[in-house]
Amino acid sequence: MRGGGSALELRRASSTEIAGTPLHGGTELVPLLRSGIVQADTLVDVRGVVPCEIDAGRIGAGATLAQLECDPQVPDVLREACRLAASPQLRNASSLGGNLLQSTRCWYWRLKWPCRLHGGDECFALEGEHREHAIFANGFCASAHPSDIAAALVALGATLRTNRRELPVSELYRLPTADDRGTTTLEPGELILEVDVPAPERSVYLKAMERKRWAFPLVGVAAARFDGETRIVLAGVAPVPWLLEGSVDDATPLPRNAYKVEIARALVARARAAIA
Ligand SMILES: Cc1cc2nc3c(=O)[nH]c(=O)nc-3n(C[C@H](O)[C@H](O)[C@H](O)COP(=O)(O)OP(=O)(O)OC[C@H]3O[C@@H](n4cnc5c(N)ncnc54)[C@H](O)[C@@H]3O)c2cc1C
Ligand code: SF4
Repeated sequence: MRGGGSALELRRASSTEIAGTPLHGGTELVPLLRSGIVQADTLVDVRGVVPCEIDAGRIGAGATLAQLECDPQVPDVLREACRLAASPQLRNASSLGGNLLQSTRCWYWRLKWPCRLHGGDECFALEGEHREHAIFANGFCASAHPSDIAAALVALGATLRTNRRELPVSELYRLPTADDRGTTTLEPGELILEVDVPAPERSVYLKAMERKRWAFPLVGVAAARFDGETRIVLAGVAPVPWLLEGSVDDATPLPRNAYKVEIARALVARARAAIA
């Protein structure tokens, strides 16, 4: 395999301090390497050093979505977010950590158009085809965050443990700006090791897709209740998992994606009713 035209070295990690690009299931990274969007000299297979156990509220970042979807220790919102993601084959290979770090599905970005997220001056989606793009925080980059699992973890108020620090999952993400086009706060060499997941009173995940199975969220709604208070986080509606602090009516849809506002309104109402 080659990355960026030069020979690509593959190593196995012997500790959590790694020099190179982490590789877990490869379901996201390998296609990005093949298309030249990600360039790397060294891939480090981290499967031997990233925990994969599920122990009550502590989940190894190496656990697969398939493990999570059927483990009764896992809160409903996270189990359902995993069950509704991708296909059974992909869920068997896809790690929790890799899922949280997946890149946007924006077709301009995946086709390597020189857009703002690639460091350019323009967001082609804003004027172009944006049916599946963001309805919140879409002024600079209108990409829609694709992770069902991230929305569930933010709704649960989960905390990440990396080889360097602990941080709320919500703080893993940032909106890209002209000064910094990054969408995560992870530093080079930083490995996600585990996630601490509080147990909610009740929780639910609802998802609207183009088809019934094997599709990214047009809108995903994660809802979790703690001490009588419900936290709602949306997938597929903003460049980051979107904590709904006000109302869905605060959305700023683009000309061809206002339909997502209607879907979000309906799913949020259903999610609130489901855990009331
Ligand atoms: C066709 C298709 C459909 C999909 N549908 C959905 C969907 O509906 N919903 C959804 O949420 N997801 C969906 N996904 C995303 C899928 O769940 C992710 O591709 C998968 O979880 C990534 O995990 P991985 O182990 O394969 O990661 P890899 O491809 O190995 O890595 C992904 C990224 O994470 C980094 N990385 C991996 N592990 C770590 C770690 N422990 N610490 C730091 N960095 C790390 C890698 O360097 C890379 O940048 C879909 C993917 C595909 C291909
Ligand atoms: S939405 Fe973001 S990723 Fe897509 S073209 Fe615009 S700047 Fe690029």
